[in-house]
Amino acid sequence: MGSRKVSQIGGDQSGSLCAHRTEEGGTTLKDQVIPKATAKRLPLYYRYLRILNNSGKQKVSSTELSEAVQVDSAPIRRDFSYFDEAAPLELSGYGYDVEALMNFFAKTLNDDHMSNVALVGVGNLGSALLKDKFHQSNSIRISAAFDVNEDIVGRIVDGIPVYPLSDMAEQIKLQQIDIAILTVPAESSQPIADDLVKSGIKGILNFTPARLHAPKSVLVQNVDLTNELQTLIYFLHANSQDENK
Ligand code: ATP
Repeated sequence: MGSRKVSQIGGDQSGSLCAHRTEEGGTTLKDQVIPKATAKRLPLYYRYLRILNNSGKQKVSSTELSEAVQVDSAPIRRDFSYFDEAAPLELSGYGYDVEALMNFFAKTLNDDHMSNVALVGVGNLGSALLKDKFHQSNSIRISAAFDVNEDIVGRIVDGIPVYPLSDMAEQIKLQQIDIAILTVPAESSQPIADDLVKSGIKGILNFTPARLHAPKSVLVQNVDLTNELQTLIYFLHANSQDENK
């Protein structure tokens, strides 16, 4: 693991998340490497801190945070220790300063910067995501969707224009889009990912079961719903077998 010193944390000029995948699967925030598991928990902390801040709460303890986000307090303390130079330390007995910590996570997660996102493939899953609009964040906006289906192209679906694939490169540049969501059939995903990379996309949220090849500079986050469900089913069975022993 790299240095724990944080000289500066936050969004860069390009507006992209200051995170890069390391070979060990960790993530770097500027000059610091944090484990992937920690990076995955940051949005959970941030969302809860926003709720607390909106309700006027000023301090939160790691025990309260632990109960709310359902993560043990030990990993929470360990997670926060990665940021102890930038985030206010837990004041002994009084907890963390809610507003300061929330602002710190907002910067870390680039939530103080609007991210335009593209969605490719307006099928069942794509349409559901267009409808959802990622409303739990104020800083994510799907600004363009793309498809090959003539029946959908040219229409506005849930407030979002659907363009033909031939307009993808132009729109991505015009709208300064850094991130794309991929909800196309698996077999079409690699050529589309190649086109997205050529158009300057920096991150792909891949909902297809295909494993994509992309340059190291492009982050690919896979969301394989079937895989997740199968893992859950596996652990459910493993747990019930343990209970029967
Ligand atoms: P899902 O539930 O996965 O969205 P679906 O049955 O609605 O499935 P798929 O066949 O998976 O539809 O296709 C998803 C969407 O991707 C469709 O709207 C389809 O028109 C679109 N699509 C298919 N091939 C391409 C491609 N090469 N480029 C862009 N969009 C594509």
